[in-house]
Amino acid sequence: PPSGKGTGSLTDAPKDLLKETRHLEELFTIDTPKLKEITHHFVNELTKGLSVEGGSIPMNPTWVMSRPTGHETGTFLALDMGGTNLRVCQVTLTEQKSEFDIIQSKYRLPEELKTGVAEELWGYIADCLQQFIETHHGDASKMGKHPLGFTFSYPATQNYIDEGILQRWTKGFDIAGVEGRNVVPMFEAALKQRGVPIKLTALINDTTGTLVASAYTDPKMMIGCIFGTGCNAAYMEDCGSIPKLAHLNLPPDTPMGINCEWGAFDNEGKVLPRTPYDAAIDKDSPRPGQQAFEKMIAGLYLGEIFRLIMVDLHDNSDAHLFAGQDISKLRKPYSLDSSFLSAIEEDTLEDLSETLDLFQTKLNISPSRAELGLIRRAAELIGTRAARLSACGVAAISIKKGYQSCHVGADGSVFNKYPHFKARGAQALRQILDWPDKADPKEEDPIEILAAEDGSGVGAALIAALTLRRVKDGNM
Ligand code: BGC
Ligand code: MG
Repeated sequence: PPSGKGTGSLTDAPKDLLKETRHLEELFTIDTPKLKEITHHFVNELTKGLSVEGGSIPMNPTWVMSRPTGHETGTFLALDMGGTNLRVCQVTLTEQKSEFDIIQSKYRLPEELKTGVAEELWGYIADCLQQFIETHHGDASKMGKHPLGFTFSYPATQNYIDEGILQRWTKGFDIAGVEGRNVVPMFEAALKQRGVPIKLTALINDTTGTLVASAYTDPKMMIGCIFGTGCNAAYMEDCGSIPKLAHLNLPPDTPMGINCEWGAFDNEGKVLPRTPYDAAIDKDSPRPGQQAFEKMIAGLYLGEIFRLIMVDLHDNSDAHLFAGQDISKLRKPYSLDSSFLSAIEEDTLEDLSETLDLFQTKLNISPSRAELGLIRRAAELIGTRAARLSACGVAAISIKKGYQSCHVGADGSVFNKYPHFKARGAQALRQILDWPDKADPKEEDPIEILAAEDGSGVGAALIAALTLRRVKDGNM
């Protein structure tokens, strides 16, 4: 069951452990009235972000100005600078409707580059691109310039589709000298230095890519979401509903892709039920006060929330979690990622011995049977809260746009790999939007969150194709 009590029987647990478990349940459970309150505030914040004054959610215009028809063609390079990996793709949109071929290489994004020097980051990316082109095209210098869709998944201001002024780093990145500047010339300088024959055609966000890639194969797709290392969504707005673009005098029914950057929802702390653990994560992050919503949902933070709870219950509670054991490994910040929580939630054994194993091998800690029950419950609470909060964002966009029935394309490690995330999110959406119970469990919900097509590969290529088409038609 999506939000059931799990297998961690606590009936025989010592009183203090039970008390701490109940306390965690109070802190992390978000009931339906609260979900509705959050969603209501969210709808207002989406609108505010489109206004001239702006709000806390950036609501960035993306210059993606049409949905794909499925008939786009051509060969494009796509570069995905994600939170964890660097991926280079060559995508061919074939003559057959909604079909594509893709070849790709993945490169690890070295951890030290995320908090290092800008030139090294751009240099590394340019090297990867060069290597890819040389492998797949022989001598690169003999080729014309390849059009590239660059997926840069951070909040960026765009006055044109081929610029991106970084508003702020997210997802733990912290590289000096980039915020407030257009990243495209920096990136192109690194390409030029190495003679890499590439023309950046479009800079896109992963959510916009996800929306467009999913719409290429499914006309019902209206929202693109990422639930991965970070969390965010994009949808198509009408220019007439974007007061901050009014000075451009675009026809009011012109579509404009909006990258919401909803990770920043409620930075001012009006509705989200933040716990002391959320406050601690924020305080010790490179950008305190930013990405309040994201810090409660995204994969980068789920394991850390769990770790902070465990350390707190060891140090400061009458329950004396892991009493007498050496918890030095557990004290290391960000040492547990969301796959650790996934593994706990996936433990199907009645005695939670897989979880015991995990704690012993990874942390050198041997929890008691009752402690394992608390561990399991904590993981369920964190995972359930993330899924339910995610649903508020999806519901808010749907309400704002008046979508009664549509598909939402979602990608990212949390969506694809975290146990029960989809079912918990769907249940929350059902509660927020007051849908009646289904007669048949196999029946579709009016709004379904489905696994997306590859946004930063196929989506980036499609957006490059749509952009070149628009330039050719003289609409830019
Ligand atoms: C970034 C967004 C991105 C999301 C998912 C967030 O931290 O600000 O631009 O879409 O992560 O990758
Ligand atoms: Mg795909």
